[in-house]
Formats: sequence, C-alpha cells, structure tokens
Amino acid sequence: MPKPVIWTVDDDPDVLRAVERDLRRQYGDRYRVISADSGVSALEAVKQLKLRNEPVALFLADQRMPQMSGVEFLEKAIEFYPDAKRALLTAYADTDAAIRAINSVHIDHYLMKPWDPPEERLYGVVDDLLDDWQSSFHPVFEGVRVIGHRWSPQSSDIRDFLGRNFVPHQWLNVETDERAKQLLITTGAPVSSLPVIVFADGSFLENPSIAEVARKLGLRTKAEFPFYDLIVVGAGPAGLAAAVYSAADGLHTLLVEREAPGGQAGRSSRIENYLGFPVGLSGSDLARRAVAQARRFGVEILAPQEARGVRIEGPSRVLTLADGAEIGCRALLIATGIAFRKLDVPGLEKLNGAGVYYYAPMSEAFSYRDGDIYIVGGANSAGQAALYFSKFARQVTMLVRAKCLSESMSQYLETQIAATKNIAVKFNSSVVAVEGVDRCETITILDRESGAKETAPASALLIYAGAIPRTDWLDGLVERDAQGYLISGQHLMREGRRPTGWTTDRDPFYLETSVPGIFVAGDVRHRSAKGVTSGVGEGAMAVKLVHEYLGLLA
Ligand SMILES: Cc1cc2nc3c(=O)[nH]c(=O)nc-3n(C[C@H](O)[C@H](O)[C@H](O)COP(=O)(O)OP(=O)(O)OC[C@H]3O[C@@H](n4cnc5c(N)ncnc54)[C@H](O)[C@@H]3O)c2cc1C
Repeated sequence: MPKPVIWTVDDDPDVLRAVERDLRRQYGDRYRVISADSGVSALEAVKQLKLRNEPVALFLADQRMPQMSGVEFLEKAIEFYPDAKRALLTAYADTDAAIRAINSVHIDHYLMKPWDPPEERLYGVVDDLLDDWQSSFHPVFEGVRVIGHRWSPQSSDIRDFLGRNFVPHQWLNVETDERAKQLLITTGAPVSSLPVIVFADGSFLENPSIAEVARKLGLRTKAEFPFYDLIVVGAGPAGLAAAVYSAADGLHTLLVEREAPGGQAGRSSRIENYLGFPVGLSGSDLARRAVAQARRFGVEILAPQEARGVRIEGPSRVLTLADGAEIGCRALLIATGIAFRKLDVPGLEKLNGAGVYYYAPMSEAFSYRDGDIYIVGGANSAGQAALYFSKFARQVTMLVRAKCLSESMSQYLETQIAATKNIAVKFNSSVVAVEGVDRCETITILDRESGAKETAPASALLIYAGAIPRTDWLDGLVERDAQGYLISGQHLMREGRRPTGWTTDRDPFYLETSVPGIFVAGDVRHRSAKGVTSGVGEGAMAVKLVHEYLGLLA
C-alpha cells in the first residue's frame, strides 16, 4: 500500500523548504511528504492523487498565500479528502482568521510560525493529528474501480470480465455509494458515460469496450512468437489441462482464449465431483490454480483473443485471430467447449444484464440479497446456481420443463435442493415473457400441462438452458456433426474408410479430427462425456497423441 501523504503548501520557498525538511525527518519513514508552492497547483495534484486512490493523512497550508489563502485551499482540498486532518500555518497577525476557520472549514489545528524547535512546537501537534487520523483510517483499495449503475448491462459485463480474469476490482454503485459519486466528480466524466473504469495509476476510461479494458490492463492479446509446437484454442478445463501437460513435456505452447480462462467451469459456484477436492472447489479457484500452473511451465496465454480461422500450409497449421494476426504451429488442439443457448422470449434480450443473466456470474449474487429469483433449467449447472443464490435470496424458484429433476441432474444436487427450504421447483413450466422498465421486474410462467399463465414479481431471472458448440469458424475444414460438434478418431471412419481428404497412411488418432495434426478435446468433441474431469482427461490425452503425431513427422 502507498504511504499516506502529508501535504504542505506555502508560497514562501524558504518556509516551504524548512517545513518539508522537518516533516520528512520525523515522519518520512511512515508518510510521504509532498509540498506545493500554491493552493492552485496543490489542488490539481490532490485530484490526481485521489484518482490513484492514495490516502492523504494531513494538509498543512500557510494561511497567507496570494492566489488562494490557506483556508480557501483547505476548503477545496477536503472535498477530495473529507477525512484528512487540516492544519493552518499562521503568523501572529492571522490568528483571528485561523480561529474563524476552525468553524468554517473545521480545521483541526493552527500552528504559529516560526515553529522552532520542531520537537517542541511542531511534532507534538502533528503526532496527535496523525494518531487521530490513523484511528479511523481504513486502508484503501488499490485495484481497478468500476463506477456504474446497478442495472447497467455494460457494468455487469465489465465486472464479469474483470472477475473471470482475476483482476482485483471494487464495484462502486453510483446510485447508492457516496464514494462513487465523489470519484465520478473527480474524473470529470459525465453520468452519461458510465460505466467509468478507474485504474490504479489514476487514469480512467469512459464506457469502454472489453478490448479497451484488456489493453489498458496489459492483458496479453498478441503472441510473442510467430510459430509454436502446439496451439490450444480455448482455456476451459480441457484446454488448460492440455496446455499444462504440453508445456511440462517441453512443447512450446500457446493458449488462446476468447473471454477468460476457466470456460464454463469458471462459472460454477462449487464443483463437487472433481477428484481430490472432497469438499468441492469453485470453478474460478480451479481456473486460477490451473492458470498459475500453466504459466509456471511457460505456457503463453492470449486472452481475450479469439480464433477465427485455420489454414493448412504443408506441415504447418496456421491460426487466424480476431485482430487479423496469423500464428503457425506444428499441431493444433481445439478445446472450445460449448456456448450458452439463447432463449427466444419477449422482453428478455432487452433486460439481459439488468436482472436477466445467462449462466450468471457469482458476483451478482450479493445484489439479489432478499430478492425473489427464478432459475430456468434443470441440469447440474442450474442446480448449483439455485443452491448458491439461495444463500442470498429470499426465495429461489427453479422452472423446469421436465416432470422431474433426476433425468438431468446428479443425485447429490437433487438431494441438496430438496433439503433447502427456500428453493422451490416448478415442473412442466417455462418462462414466456419478461418485463421491466430498466431491469427485470416480472416474469410470466407457463404451466405446460394446463396451459395456465401466471405473472410473478422477479428480482432476477437466471438462465441455464443448455449449450451448443460454436464451431462455424472451422466449417469446411474439419468434419462436424449436425449440431456442430467436431468428429474425431474412430467416429470419422466410414465402413473402414478414412475421411475424405485424409492425407496420411494411418487412421486418425482417437482425438484427431479429419485433418491430421488438428486435435479436439472436451465438450466440443462429438460424443464426449462432458464435464470437468473428462475435459481434463481428454486435454491430457490429446497431448500424448500430439507427441505421437509429431514423432511421426520427425
Ligand atoms: C454453471 C456450470 C456449472 C458446472 N458444474 C459442473 C460440475 O460441477 N461438474 C462437472 O463435471 N461439470 C460441470 N459443468 C460442466 C463443465 O464446466 C464443462 O463440461 C467443462 O467446462 C467443459 O470444459 P471444456 O474445456 O471442454 O470447455 P469450456 O469449459 O466450455 O471452455 C471452452 C473455452 O473455449 C473458449 N472459446 C470458445 N471459442 C473460442 C474461440 N473461437 N477462440 C478462443 N477461445 C474460444 C471459451 O470462451 C471457453 O473459455 C458446469 C458447467 C456450468 C456452466
């Protein structure tokens, strides 16, 4: 944490030098002493300090300054730092002004010039002021600050992005948080430009895109080298596992991720069926650990960065990225998982991010404390969300199209849901309308058996309606099934014949697609088991097959 600041302002250079010297000698080890030769220049610097979220403990200003008196300076400075202690440096003749200022700007003390010896006439007073300040000081937050409206989809997207990329950040709701209002005024940005993102260095962006935030944070989106042994596309469990095993085996490895490491699993509040974690672990913990492990082995991670196409150039596979960059590799692994299925319900799209969420970020749970939450879906992901949100909400209601949960949900989750008092399950039901002015207010539920419709107040609607692979960018290159899953290994063989265009004198490996050297792992694979464990297993197995493939090339 940066040292708290003691700020001293005086237009007389000799006095300023002397007071600065005395303060630094006594407090320099615990405080940063900053000086300015006028109130005007000091105020500009105070504003910059505020944007960087650095704490100020004490302002010490000379009363008699030509452009702006000490009292005037203190009056303005405390708008930025209302909790800082304020002291005036006065000549005997200014005593009356100083006494008046005790009432008008609530100065905490006035000091007479000269203050020699400082041990007697300066340090005692300053010690008291600093002790007082310390006793009510809460260490400041040092990461990124997001100022926005609670119901703004843009704010929600940025918080989700920061959270999933493990960027420490503080959410400041401009409607309810005084600090948010104050910080917004300090930036000078209009309310219409929210969300405003203030970075640790004091700079800020108004209503930025995710790519702009990523650039500003220095997240890596450009590859360091033009060519790698293995490029892995997708940093869910399958891609992360592959990257770790590949780099650990000495392959020069690049991992490309469109959103944030963790994939679908990164949205899981508690994975309870992953080996070695008897009490479960959250998806974001799993992702954080995996990313650390990958980096330790030297994996280069590009995120956010999207793969848009692949072409074959002799033995090389060349990947095209969203920014037009091309990177070559000896082998390519597709581990792009599956993406959320969107619901076509009137009113829903308009409120997406404002109380309506697909696979809601866990960070939203706190916003719905004591609310009534509806969850669409009956699979494990919906069950986990119901359990997690029930810790905050007054009531959680699951809307399930089927007649029971057991067909789609693991037994352990079904049991926990049945035992949770504030979770109700409505079978044979689906949501047919969502309404609200600027956030979700009511939803209409259809009883699919009787045809009856019911409109109910809803603080939030969370959708877990299944997922589909997004593999269009590979169309025409590798074989896909009717839903878009990538076909591999023995599933490519038709009556003992290898796939059309197959160029080598061997059958495809188990996780190899219809193009030699392009592999697939995890949920995106045709007939994969789906899930974290199988994704991790396939990622590891894919690396073993990549070695075999590369061995044959050598
Ligand atoms: C809320 C929730 C809870 C779950 N709980 C459990 C559980 O408890 N136990 C369990 O076993 N399973 C659980 N699952 C399922 C599990 O998370 C998935 O089966 C698993 O994550 C699949 O891993 P994957 O690596 O194949 O793909 P994904 O996790 O889907 O990851 C694929 C990654 O590829 C990226 N990507 C996609 N296209 C591109 C592109 N063109 N360029 C770059 N990157 C791209 C995506 O952004 C994503 O990060 C849960 C899923 C959800 C949503």
